[in-house]
Amino acid sequence: MMNKKDVIVIGGGPAGCTAAMGLARLGYKVVLCDQAQFPRDKVCGEFISPAADPILARLGILHRIEAMNPKRLKGVAISSYGGKELLIDYPKLPGMEAKPTSLSVP
Ligand SMILES: Cc1cc2nc3c(=O)[nH]c(=O)nc-3n(C[C@H](O)[C@H](O)[C@H](O)COP(=O)(O)OP(=O)(O)OC[C@H]3O[C@@H](n4cnc5c(N)ncnc54)[C@H](O)[C@@H]3O)c2cc1C
Repeated sequence: MMNKKDVIVIGGGPAGCTAAMGLARLGYKVVLCDQAQFPRDKVCGEFISPAADPILARLGILHRIEAMNPKRLKGVAISSYGGKELLIDYPKLPGMEAKPTSLSVP
């Protein structure tokens, strides 16, 4: 007998994975398909915005990323070919106890 699903999500990048996890938590039977075989290599700046932390926590996966001992960046550096560099620390936002940091993982 055919294994019935409610939803097919095509593409297992961040958008597809998040959609599939959200739908599965709502009780839908979901199948996630991708043309690539995972884990896949991907060109990336290896930077995840501080704003992603609460989203990853809500998805229940932040602790798994933390377990990989990622680097925590305190801000951004913008440099010119001439060697000039501008360093900007992430600002503390209202309601935050500490300044935010961003994840850096391959
Ligand atoms: C060079 C580069 C560096 C980047 N660096 C960063 C960074 O440092 N930090 C950051 O936050 N973001 C970075 N990004 C942006 C980030 O990659 C995207 O925002 C993110 O991948 C978008 O997620 P997505 O799920 O929408 O799409 P994708 O991650 O592109 O996922 C789409 C998936 O769909 C699959 N797919 C496509 N067509 C089909 C099909 N017909 N059938 C089956 N599967 C299919 C693909 O194989 C892929 O896995 C970078 C992007 C680039 C190009």
